[in-house]
Amino acid sequence: MQPKMSRRSLEKIYDDLYDRAQAILDKYNPCDIRKDKAGHVTCVCTRSDSNYCGRTKEQQKQLCCYGCQFLTKNGCRVRCLMCKLHLCHTIPYSHPARKALDKLQEEAWEYTGFLQIRRSKRFALDHALDHLDGRGRLWSL
Ligand code: SF4
Ligand code: SF4
Repeated sequence: MQPKMSRRSLEKIYDDLYDRAQAILDKYNPCDIRKDKAGHVTCVCTRSDSNYCGRTKEQQKQLCCYGCQFLTKNGCRVRCLMCKLHLCHTIPYSHPARKALDKLQEEAWEYTGFLQIRRSKRFALDHALDHLDGRGRLWSL
């Protein structure tokens, strides 16, 4: 049996995936988040008239972090990998950011707990370490 993966090793993998996802978002800026003249924060989705998710008119004015416990007036207060890897339906499948993030998501699939949206890094690492075969991997169970 292979040695159990340490929390530190898992954390390094998590941080590496997170930083690479952030670099992709910085490079392609798929959501194009902006503040309008009235001070409202908008994105590609809120500026479109799409209602794919069946959201109410009020919810359609909000970015996808809407209602999250980790959202503060200064933005997100945790490092949630899956939130970095996720793009909503407004961003087309052909968008280079989505393609690059999907590749990262394939890497992250190996680590159970890493792909849960609206969760802190601590939660993801706890989950991974609690549920694995000692190596931090999901599909080798
Ligand atoms: S955890 Fe995700 S949904 Fe919540 S504020 Fe952070 S990025 Fe947004
Ligand atoms: S994923 Fe969609 S809803 Fe979320 S910030 Fe990007 S464009 Fe807006």
